[in-house]
Amino acid sequence: MTSTIDTKSIGKPQRARRHVRTLTGYLPEVDATGKEHWPRGDEKVWKEALRGVDKDVPSVTKSFVNHVQTSLARQAYNLDDLGAYQAAALSVRDNLIVNWNETQLNYTRKNPKRAYYLSLEFLMGRTLDNALLNLGLKEEYRDGVKKLGFSIEDILDKERDAALGNGGLGRLAACYLDSGSSTELPLWGYGLRYKYGIFQQLISPEGNQLEAPDPWLENQNPWELPRLDVTYEVRFYGQSERLANGRGIWQGGQEVVAVAYDVMIPGYGTKTTNNLRLWESRPKRGFDLNSFNAGNYEGAVESSNTADAITSVLYPNDHTSFGKELRLKQQYFWTAASLADIIRRFKQQGKPMNQLPDYVAIQLNDTHPTLAIPELMRILIDEEDFGWDQAWSIVTNVFFYTNHTVLPEALEKWPVPLIEHVLPRHLQIIYDINLFFLQAVERKYPNDRERLARMSLIEEGFPKQVRMAHLAAVGSRKVNGVAELHSDLVKTTILKDFVDFEGVSKFSNVTNGITPRRWLDQCNPELSDLITKTLKVEKTVWLKDLAKLKGLIPFAEDAAFRKEWAAIKQRNKERLAHYVQTTLGLTVRTDAMFDVQIKRLHEYKRQTLNILGVIHRYLTLKAMTPEEKKKVNPRVVFFAGKAAPAYYIAKLTIRLIVNVASKINTDPDTKDYLQLYFLPDYSVSLAEVLIPASDISQHISTAGTEASGTSNMKFCLNGGLLLGTVDGANIEIAEEVGESNVFFFGHLTPAVEDLRYQHIYHPVPLEEKCPGLARVIEQVAAGLFGDAEIYEPLLNTIRQTDYYLLSDDFDSYIAALGMVDEAYQDQDEWVKKSIKTTANMGKFSSDRAILEYAESFWNIEPSPVEAPKKAT
Ligand SMILES: *Cc1c(COP(=O)(O)O)cnc(C)c1O
Repeated sequence: MTSTIDTKSIGKPQRARRHVRTLTGYLPEVDATGKEHWPRGDEKVWKEALRGVDKDVPSVTKSFVNHVQTSLARQAYNLDDLGAYQAAALSVRDNLIVNWNETQLNYTRKNPKRAYYLSLEFLMGRTLDNALLNLGLKEEYRDGVKKLGFSIEDILDKERDAALGNGGLGRLAACYLDSGSSTELPLWGYGLRYKYGIFQQLISPEGNQLEAPDPWLENQNPWELPRLDVTYEVRFYGQSERLANGRGIWQGGQEVVAVAYDVMIPGYGTKTTNNLRLWESRPKRGFDLNSFNAGNYEGAVESSNTADAITSVLYPNDHTSFGKELRLKQQYFWTAASLADIIRRFKQQGKPMNQLPDYVAIQLNDTHPTLAIPELMRILIDEEDFGWDQAWSIVTNVFFYTNHTVLPEALEKWPVPLIEHVLPRHLQIIYDINLFFLQAVERKYPNDRERLARMSLIEEGFPKQVRMAHLAAVGSRKVNGVAELHSDLVKTTILKDFVDFEGVSKFSNVTNGITPRRWLDQCNPELSDLITKTLKVEKTVWLKDLAKLKGLIPFAEDAAFRKEWAAIKQRNKERLAHYVQTTLGLTVRTDAMFDVQIKRLHEYKRQTLNILGVIHRYLTLKAMTPEEKKKVNPRVVFFAGKAAPAYYIAKLTIRLIVNVASKINTDPDTKDYLQLYFLPDYSVSLAEVLIPASDISQHISTAGTEASGTSNMKFCLNGGLLLGTVDGANIEIAEEVGESNVFFFGHLTPAVEDLRYQHIYHPVPLEEKCPGLARVIEQVAAGLFGDAEIYEPLLNTIRQTDYYLLSDDFDSYIAALGMVDEAYQDQDEWVKKSIKTTANMGKFSSDRAILEYAESFWNIEPSPVEAPKKAT
């Protein structure tokens, strides 16, 4: 790293320098009557040229071919599917850009309060199909490309997922952006433009997970617009000096440039096309003249390497954190650039900074962007000359914090020496925040040293650590969890002292949601069409008012409707079987119950419980006579999910699943009754194929560990029933769809602590406590699935402390699986359950969730894009 001192800035406060051309100069003036007056040239010529993009089929084919010839510079006669995808994407993008521009113009004119969603992850998946749906252009493009000899499905299939996220948290951010635009809210996202998204998962023949990089930008990405003129400088390292008046001067160190890339987020059936701004890091100078003049050529080019690294790769850890310096730099780089951009936009309105909370709300998606709190303090105090109290009052009215976990190992903490090294000024500010905060606690609870230690932003130890969840809670106006149970746990466990101190009204709940556009209409078009036909309501209406699904309830009693419903599930199973056949060369039987567990591999999600349950079923089948087996309904079990590359136990679970699969899928005694597949490289696109095909899906986390879950919602919306524990959003799903339509098992949250205590202080041998599980584990340990000794560390997690309570829940889990079998025997009743489940999922639309944030937290309103009145 080069450490150059910028002599020009010594003694001057650091300001985020902007290099943005103002848009305002090009806006048509609007007079008091709402008429536009064009600023230059011949207004008629402008208006004619600005008519936008034509949307009929001939215009679509013309635009498509035009992009082939010009943007892609390709010969039309030898265009392949990939080229056709690129041309279609560029053509559709033209529509998005027009709407995007009108949306931003609308906001600039009306100046509504805006909300910003800061998320280190956005798991967007594919864009073309979603853009076609939201623009209402799917049929035009289907016809258009067909006339040119292409199939829209083949073209859509050429797109690569944008996988800038690990799992649920990143996918939630993507659903919220879709809902923000669909409900016409002024909501922007801010994230990082990782060069490499979540790794590609390969599975070796022995069942090892191998990680390959995801160079998703290898082919040009038509969905982003580089904004090379929107840049900010971000400082790291250096020295921070405190002045007597409380201000600080931070200088020296390394400066890196953040460059904006904009991703257009179209709303469904609206013109509103919001923005997702992703930052890329670049070296400030490709060449450092100071070093060069000193004869240090290597040092002169070195800075470019370290700057590029900041946005090169997404950290592949989900619910685990490692105190890596580069990760801290990512977090600061992203929050500093985003805040500078937000403040620049606010200042364009000419309002004083103390009005910031009237125009800006910032949602922190987990603690990852918490440095935004000390960063805004730094800007207000060091650059805008505010006093501490006034600055703090602005900050605590701008930020809102969403907690995503109560797992102790997943709570972010940063070593004090690391922050001191990378962000010396921010550490001073964090210490000041802590000082004033603890003084206030001390006034309320005098002489309660233990309480002060519990609540401090700094955890004592070697090294000391900054507790990011405490900083986020103290610096925000509201704190929320993501499902009722989880929000209660936040209030009664990790933030209990904060509730006592600040009052409960600051702490609330917003249950997660999913966008029904992607997770029903796009992934399950036949079911969507059947719903539209049955409800006799346009899909443009019910997809935005999901409670309308309740109109399906009476049809559960209609035998003809049930037949159609079941036939669609069957075709979705065949679609999945076709996918497995063409990608893995394996033949899946489709006359079976499809049982699916797809999510990140984690001990708390208990894929291990599921695979041990599969082995139990296998052993039971092996012990049956042919006559007994005839009564068994065949079952196909699917797993998919990635393990963090360093998560040894999770990787062993994958290995066990793969090896159990190769054994039982070839066993002539059982293969007609039980099949097992691990589908590699779980992604949004794979979820879109798996979810509509599922009869039953498993959400079986240890009670109190899964904050919400969102795939549970996706399955139920598609008529898949749920087998789960009393955890996260499973509980609220059951409240909506009826407990008789959900298969619950396992201990409840209040019992967990006690059971863990028993495991340690009063252990009972597994053979005694849970003979069924002991028998299964014995078989694995005896080498029934090969590699006996390899699985020992995995088995030991259960034999020893069994932190996730597999031995406590195994028997009721097996019983619940039996009830699923029994219920499935009565297909009429099963399909009724399936229909009623879909019908009652209205609450879980992300439109509902985003409107709750808008109304209860951000205080923002829809700001529809209106066609401007014509100038005379
Ligand atoms: C919805 C989704 C998730 C979240 O799944 P959970 O089962 O709720 O953890 C993770 N990954 C992808 C690709 C998803 O679509």
